[in-house]
Amino acid sequence: MTTETFEFQVEARQLLQLMIHSVYSNKDVFLRELVSNASDALDKLRLEKLRDDSLDADVSDLHIEIDVDKEARTLTVRDNGIGMSYDEVGQLIGTIAKSGTATLLKELKEAKDAAGAEGLIGQFGVGFYSGFMVADEVTLVTRRAGESQGTRWTSRGEATYSLETVEDAPQGTAVTLHLKPADPENQLHDYTSPWKIREIVKRYSDFITWPIRMVPEAA
Ligand code: ADP
Ligand code: MG
Repeated sequence: MTTETFEFQVEARQLLQLMIHSVYSNKDVFLRELVSNASDALDKLRLEKLRDDSLDADVSDLHIEIDVDKEARTLTVRDNGIGMSYDEVGQLIGTIAKSGTATLLKELKEAKDAAGAEGLIGQFGVGFYSGFMVADEVTLVTRRAGESQGTRWTSRGEATYSLETVEDAPQGTAVTLHLKPADPENQLHDYTSPWKIREIVKRYSDFITWPIRMVPEAA
């Protein structure tokens, strides 16, 4: 199995740098973004299956799972939705294709203070890269519904990301954040705490219609 390394598109790299060195007070929003992507992926799979009943995909228990591991200091957001092919991962995660993002980036650079940036982020949504506000490494394992081979994407948010194929990926996408040490003074909370995660989900993702399960189940 070979690992291929790619460079982020220039705009993508700029947005990543802004995320990593962000002074934005509210880092909790990364979870809203990951849950929102998971929910979109479940919507897409449901729709695709409706359009094409022959699609070889299990739609019997569509859901989102949030899995924390205190020892490993990781948080994983998993869905069994549409997933991405190898090429799609490179296109969708390695570049910024959204028209709104270029505007966001420009305005973020011009924002004078954290409050201004905060407002912009709330307005635009910062997407997948916001994981890098709280993690120093992000891994994504995905398999597109109907395909047999999966893909692992890994990045430390620097200039490059790597892609490799995986044989045993479940359908859908799992995003694992290797969390930075908690730093409450800078609003970097302990995201391995099921309580904290529940609270954030409740605050930002209460409107999500798909089931959101916690692993381990908070007692
Ligand atoms: P947006 O959600 O606004 O398009 P994001 O940065 O959040 O922007 O995500 C970029 C793209 O990556 C999404 O549009 C989607 O195509 C893909 N993606 C992200 N997360 C997932 C996921 N969990 N399942 C499938 N595709 C995903
Ligand atoms: Mg998104």
